[in-house]
Amino acid sequence: MTDPQERVRMVNHRAAALILGDLRLTRENNGAAVVATIRSEDVVQELRYEVCGCLPSTDCEPFLPIALLVALRLGIPLDANAPVSPRLLRSLQTVQDIWHVWHGLARIAIRAESKPTVQATGARGVGCFFSGGIDSFYTALKHCDEITHLIFVWGFDVPLSRKVLRAEIAGRIRRATRDMGKQLIEVETNVRQISDKYWTWEDAHGAALAGVALLLSPLLRKVYIPSSSTYALLQTLGSHPLLDPLWSTEHTEIVHDGCEASRFEKLKKVVDCQAAMQSLRVCWKNSEDTYNCCRCAKCLQAMALLRALGALERAATFDHSFDLRSMARECTYTKTRVPQKRFQPAMFSALEHVERFGNDPALAQALRDCVEWKYQRGVWKVLTLTTALRKRTGAMLHVLGKRLWPHADPL
Ligand SMILES: [Zn+2]
Repeated sequence: MTDPQERVRMVNHRAAALILGDLRLTRENNGAAVVATIRSEDVVQELRYEVCGCLPSTDCEPFLPIALLVALRLGIPLDANAPVSPRLLRSLQTVQDIWHVWHGLARIAIRAESKPTVQATGARGVGCFFSGGIDSFYTALKHCDEITHLIFVWGFDVPLSRKVLRAEIAGRIRRATRDMGKQLIEVETNVRQISDKYWTWEDAHGAALAGVALLLSPLLRKVYIPSSSTYALLQTLGSHPLLDPLWSTEHTEIVHDGCEASRFEKLKKVVDCQAAMQSLRVCWKNSEDTYNCCRCAKCLQAMALLRALGALERAATFDHSFDLRSMARECTYTKTRVPQKRFQPAMFSALEHVERFGNDPALAQALRDCVEWKYQRGVWKVLTLTTALRKRTGAMLHVLGKRLWPHADPL
């Protein structure tokens, strides 16, 4: 029998846990929604997925990755009020090890019942997350024979409130999917609205994608997550080749794909696809609801790479001309002078390509400026100029002083 003090400690510990539960499925107009809550003392938050075209999982696994991230941030145990895949439950320890090393977080207790038997779902489909970008087109084309479904998630990089932008993206993504002979699964979720309270999207997006992959387990036996980085430049990002497979269950294999190719190498494959040339989408700013703003670093880099391949004029979703100096500046440093290191492999590859063919010397020069870190910007540019001016003025005053008072002692 537990002594009273121990019982009080257990009750307090229990009260401080994050509880994942209240799972329910509701039918919506054109599809289904699954909802769960994460509760910590008085704070109750509802996580929600809506999906059209297939029946989603009603297990707790789709909610587990984000619930784990929230519990890790709060530093409290996670209680799941529904059985969990044994494979996933085992892997969560390794997930915690990785997050501990990356972010210095203490490991937490995960209290969940393991599913006693793993029943086959009969899922045969293979999915690929698809934003319309270079990485997702590359993975979709690379595994085209195997992939049956493309998955687009509303509420991740496109906020649910941006209705005009959403309509434009939906039209192009649906057309591209049809042209590639695949089925599109559209999922809408508020997961990012919850995760943004605890983590940056760079840290949380892998867990969010894994949740959607597990949501589709009745339909998909494997889901590809396109990589945004090469093996040479892997960072502690939320989607990572070490981390993504650990969210897999007995039914759904999650695969991180595409680290072997730089963005330029990926684009070489993508430009041969007509659907991609009609719908390529890389912008992260979408200012004034533009599909690609053609002014941010990602847009300008994509335009430079397309021009290097002689494909910019075939790309329907970009302006066909751009300022090379702006491109080199934007792709070298951010406004706060953080080096754009992850742009470099593609820029090097593009420079090699353009120099080999020798038909676009202006682009070659701009790419060279970029890989040689030529450009300063913003306040750093002003500071650099001010320092240079001060040195120049100081030198002039020194020369003038020597002429007026040639015998004066130096200070
Ligand atoms: Zn842009």
